[in-house]
This record gives sequence, structure tokens and C-alpha cells, in this order.
Amino acid sequence: MRALIVADIHSNLEAFEGVIADAETRGGFDQIWSAGDLVGYGPSPGQCIQLMRRYDAKAVAGNHDLASVGEMSPEAFNDRALAALIWTTTQLSDDEAEYLRGLPRRLELDGFTVVHGSPRHPEWEYVHTPETAAANFAHFDTPICLIGHTHIAIMCRSNGGGAVFEKFQLGVPSVLTGDSFIVNPGAVGQPRDGDPRAGYAVFDSDDQTITHHRVEYDVTTTQRKMSDRGLPSHLVERLARGI
Ligand code: ZN
Repeated sequence: MRALIVADIHSNLEAFEGVIADAETRGGFDQIWSAGDLVGYGPSPGQCIQLMRRYDAKAVAGNHDLASVGEMSPEAFNDRALAALIWTTTQLSDDEAEYLRGLPRRLELDGFTVVHGSPRHPEWEYVHTPETAAANFAHFDTPICLIGHTHIAIMCRSNGGGAVFEKFQLGVPSVLTGDSFIVNPGAVGQPRDGDPRAGYAVFDSDDQTITHHRVEYDVTTTQRKMSDRGLPSHLVERLARGI
């Protein structure tokens, strides 16, 4: 079984379609697993929801998904995120809102726990450091936990009560055996590591490996749609720089 692992799609249809097409050329996949934030920031919330449903993806809710349907207060959102959130709310059909409302905050799949932020605080915690990761290993029972939220890919291994961040090299399979792991596949729709290409990962259960990939997509089209819809210019500009 091969799972295409995505996170932080953020209403970016061009990036989401680009990731699916790229994964198809790299051996394909049987399922899509998503670590949350399907909507928010970007210009195509409804189409991204439809694409996710077409693949019958196994997905959890992120903070943007929850806030866009009134399941979470947006008080911690900055002004630009809030502006995009309010616009998103006006775009969702009843059916699309119902889909987001029905997403769980935590899922267990074939040895994986899937959450958005962290297993300790699924809605909000950012796992940026080995210290934060180390504190989270006690909060899931499966060998591997998939997260999103930081928009930065990490491969973290438990290490005698602590945690180490290992190289998550592009195109090089990492073997997930012998320890516990926290893995972030990077953001599909709004990368923040200085590389504007969409990020994702593929898990292969036959050899228990996970591989990180990046793919270029049509950033200009996404940016034009965002401008046309009146979304904040900073959100438009950051896509081209991957910040
Ligand atoms: Zn996000």
C-alpha cells in the first residue's frame, strides 16, 4: 500500500493537482492521507474540498478548517489569515462546510496517528524543535505520527526520551522502523522554508519507507486567482518566495 501524504493545502488547487500528478509519475498511490488545513489563505476552497473527496482521502481538520466553519475561534489568527478566513467562510457551500465540520481532529491509520499541529495539542501546537517533538512522543501510541501546521518538512526520531531531527532528503526513502517518528511532509499550498515548490511525502508499507518530494506548480495562476478574489497581497506574494 502506498499513501500520498499531504498537509496544509490551503485552498491551493494548482499545488494540490501538481502534487497528485507528480505522485502519479513516481509510482502512484492507493490512498491520500491529509494532516489538515485544506482551506484558508488560498483562492480555491471548494475545488480543493471536491478533489479531496474524489479521492476519498483520510483527513483530519486543521485550525483553518475548524475556524472556517465556526468550530474554533479565529481570535489567534493574524489580520491577513483572518481576512482570508472570512472570505473562505463566504465561499463554502452547505455541503462543503458540512464536510469540513465532519473531519476528525485525530485519526489512526495503519500504524500512523494523524493530527494537524501536534498529538498533544492537535489544533495549535507547532512542532519546530526537537524539544517540542520530544514532549509529544508520549501523546501517541502508534509507531509514527504525521503532523502539519508549521509548513516545514521534518523527519524526527525518538531518542532515549529525547528527539532528533534527521535529514529528510528529497527523493531518498527513510526507513521507519525501530523507533517512534514524527513526520511532517511539508506544505502543499504554502511552503515556508524558502522553497516555493509544493511539498509532500509518500509512505510505502511494503518496505516501511517514507520519501519526501517537492514539485513546481503554476504559482502565477494561483496568485492571479488570489488577486482577483481580493485576498491580502502579502499572502499572494509569499507564495512565489516560499515564506
Ligand atoms: Zn497551515
